[in-house]
Amino acid sequence: MLIVPERHIADLMTREAAFDAVERVFAAMAAGDAYNFPVVREAIGHEDALYGFKGGFDRAGLTLGLKAGGYWPNNLEKRGLINHQSTVFLFDPDTGKVKAMVGGNLLTALRTAAASSVSIKHLARTDARVLGMVGAGHQATFQLRAALEQRSFDKVIGWNYHPEMLPNIQKVADEAGVPFEAVELDGMRQADVIISITSAFAPSLMADHVSPGCHVACMGTDTKGKQEVEAALLARATVFTDEVAQSITIGEAQHAVAQGLIAESDVTQIGAVINGTHPGREGDDQITLFDGTGVGLQDLAVAAAVVDLAAKKGSAIEVDF
Ligand code: NAD
Repeated sequence: MLIVPERHIADLMTREAAFDAVERVFAAMAAGDAYNFPVVREAIGHEDALYGFKGGFDRAGLTLGLKAGGYWPNNLEKRGLINHQSTVFLFDPDTGKVKAMVGGNLLTALRTAAASSVSIKHLARTDARVLGMVGAGHQATFQLRAALEQRSFDKVIGWNYHPEMLPNIQKVADEAGVPFEAVELDGMRQADVIISITSAFAPSLMADHVSPGCHVACMGTDTKGKQEVEAALLARATVFTDEVAQSITIGEAQHAVAQGLIAESDVTQIGAVINGTHPGREGDDQITLFDGTGVGLQDLAVAAAVVDLAAKKGSAIEVDF
């Protein structure tokens, strides 16, 4: 069994490798070669923690396993640890023997950023120039860094519910040499691509804040009750997702579906676009919206990639098990 500890991930994993792994597994999901298992998420009644498992099997990539972990809200204050904690376990699909144990914290951020990047590659207009960010927390910095690689953006605009957090994303734009401007939400009308990555339970981005031709990646809503954008925006947009079942139950589409504004059949797996069985964007005026809910197969895909990289470099820790 190989172990790749959390502290090794930053030196091993690249944004490019994460992007390739996520794009490939989205394609496998749409082709019916990979599927996610039902998600388990429990309030364990200890340390206010939420703990659970996300797993799946990719027959094309022969990746079987699960990510175990969750959210411990007291970690930072009490122990100086980050609140989100996760570990990925990979198994040999031929024998069931455990293959690898991989730190999942940084990988979660990289695979989530890779998902919106894949959506930008396949759905945003090729002439997109202005990138809008709604959200400026931990994930937002990863999202922005990855998105800037997908188009020749010449400006980043940002809005955040807590404006004092905006320097987090301004720093990323500065490092990439792209001008940054803080805007009000109606300023998002100048954006060609908008990434929304907040923990909100009520919408900030309204349908009339989004211009025709924009691509919106909604990345924050991963739980029942959360909501980042007005449901009417989904009715105006052509909606894509990582997995339809999650999109309509715990993703951004849950609200538009519950209100009868769109049907389940209006939501398309992005893998179909990657595979060429769906045309994707149709015309420069269409609004495309990607509902990135986060699936276990993404975690397994990036963990398998990092295990390969560690094995090649000889840095994986091998134990008899
Ligand atoms: P964070 O705590 O670092 O940042 C939270 C962000 O949400 C900040 O920008 C904050 O200002 C904003 N926010 C808080 N309350 C708000 C409100 N009422 N209205 C609007 N904005 C508000 O969190 P993070 O680690 O950046 O995670 C952001 C979200 O992404 C969380 O909801 C998390 O569960 C989700 N997430 C999704 C995936 C996925 O695969 N889709 C993966 C990881 C995290």
